[in-house]
Amino acid sequence: TPTASRHFIQQQIDADLAAGRVKHVHTRFPPEPNGYLHIGHAKSICLNFGLAKEYAGPEGPRFNLRFDDTNPAREEQEYVDAIMDDVRWLGADWESRLYHASDYFETHYGWAVELIKAGHAYVCDQTAEQVRETRGTLTEAGTPSPYRGRSVEENLDLFKRMRGGEFADGAKTLRAKIDMSAANVNLRDPVMYRIKHTSHQRTGDAWCLYPAYDWAHGQGDAMEGITHSICTLEFENHRPLYDWYLDRLQALKLLPGERPRQIEFARLNLTYTVMSKRKLLQLVQEKHVAGWDDPRMPTLRGLRRRGYTAESIRAFCERIGVTKQNSTIDMLWLEDAVRDHLNETAPRRMAVLRPLKLVLTGYADGSALPPSDSVKVCKLDNHPQHPELGSRSVPLTRELWIEQDDFMEDAPKQFFRLKPGGAVRLRGAGMAICQEVIKDATGEVVELRCVFDPDTTALVEGKKVKGTIHWVPVEGSVEAEVRLYDHLFGVEEPDRAPEGETFLHNLNKHSLERLTAKLEPDLATACAGESYQFERIGYFFVDPIDSRAGAPCFNRTVTLRDTWGK
Ligand code: ATP
Ligand code: MG
Ligand code: MG
Repeated sequence: TPTASRHFIQQQIDADLAAGRVKHVHTRFPPEPNGYLHIGHAKSICLNFGLAKEYAGPEGPRFNLRFDDTNPAREEQEYVDAIMDDVRWLGADWESRLYHASDYFETHYGWAVELIKAGHAYVCDQTAEQVRETRGTLTEAGTPSPYRGRSVEENLDLFKRMRGGEFADGAKTLRAKIDMSAANVNLRDPVMYRIKHTSHQRTGDAWCLYPAYDWAHGQGDAMEGITHSICTLEFENHRPLYDWYLDRLQALKLLPGERPRQIEFARLNLTYTVMSKRKLLQLVQEKHVAGWDDPRMPTLRGLRRRGYTAESIRAFCERIGVTKQNSTIDMLWLEDAVRDHLNETAPRRMAVLRPLKLVLTGYADGSALPPSDSVKVCKLDNHPQHPELGSRSVPLTRELWIEQDDFMEDAPKQFFRLKPGGAVRLRGAGMAICQEVIKDATGEVVELRCVFDPDTTALVEGKKVKGTIHWVPVEGSVEAEVRLYDHLFGVEEPDRAPEGETFLHNLNKHSLERLTAKLEPDLATACAGESYQFERIGYFFVDPIDSRAGAPCFNRTVTLRDTWGK
């Protein structure tokens, strides 16, 4: 149920506006192009774009897409393109507000020079390991670097030569000169620049110095006029550093008076999956999944290929809300969201996943079926609640496919589907009464012989017939591959693996089942990207990559009801 109260970020923004601290609201989404977006990113996009829309001025929402491309080693154009496509698909529109942290490299460099001149930064020759070792701990102050006392002139000279490419990777860093005994470890002379002789996908070989996240991020926010810089909770204790840089640059009159404010919220965690890009990459590289767009992946690519709609993901993000408490959301919430949306929009069709042949031998009153194969043509509504979605015809032929588990030989009393001598309704057609069960040499049931009664109100053995099953005519049916997807991991918390094992230990070995199903004739023309409800089974998406004209291939998006844990 949607809550009427406003979340803590809305409350802070309201307070900022009321106090005149900001005149409008401007947000951004800052992905690092080192992987594909996942459902956690969707939460951030929906939050940031949602706020920009909610507080939009007459000229529309102020929402920036900024690629945080400060680490060239792991970043690629392929990711950049996919991220833009996914953000747009989700419905967030940055219009002309597309930025790259790398656009600011020159400005950042100039500001770093000013910080050096003001005595706020120095060149340090300690190795990454030495920097780490001398940082101290929560209870113990850090040890100042022996290079901390370098003169401004020496620092300016060395920094310039660092840029010039004179030094090897890791040989020197530029560090902010803050306080080696600060209670917050992030303030103990953090590294601002690292030397990396690596080509960048946008700036090429122009730079061999790359800024650290903390140094680049707030400055990018300030330059773009971001008012509320929303990030996940891990950055809460980086906020003093975020503010320290802004304070120094403002004191040096390098930044305008208005400045961004960092606000942290709890990141999204989901059961039965992992969300770290490193782990997702590992799943792809080690071929545990077919790719970034494998329908089992929590990536937006994967969810899209699974048949998730943008509406359902936005609804999910709305329902889970925004808080400051880390928690793990049950995957059922995500499933419910798509089920709700597809229940409204997906046309209904009949499909038999595990076929068993049912042969109609005559009418229940003893008369003969029509001589042609077609007994009757059934007109079925495409959606029970939406007549405007029309209907289609399905021929009831003498030979039908039904689901194997809609028949049971030794059925309990409460089994309302088909049993020997029993009757069942055939969806939209009439009733079938089972008179004979045919088995093969191994004793397996291979065919049911039934009589047909078009009058569904007729009593069978003095009782009304309760069960209704779906069916597909043998003649004219379409054979298609159907993939049934389940959780990628078999446990709620995949990261909790036994001693000596990794999250891979928890992979669900049965997360994909491929079937050759029988579909009603109309589905021959199903188009890539369409969703259908297969009656009594679930929602299925026509795979955009593996489907061919006239030969669709279906991915199960979600079952009709929760069957997990069974
Ligand atoms: P990783 O650590 O796996 O590389 P990341 O958080 O560094 O992920 P970014 O591309 O930097 O990934 O993230 C872009 C934005 O999305 C950031 O503002 C980040 O806070 C947000 N974000 C990432 N993961 C989540 C999540 N699980 N829930 C909410 N927001 C997230
Ligand atoms: Mg990252
Ligand atoms: Mg990041």
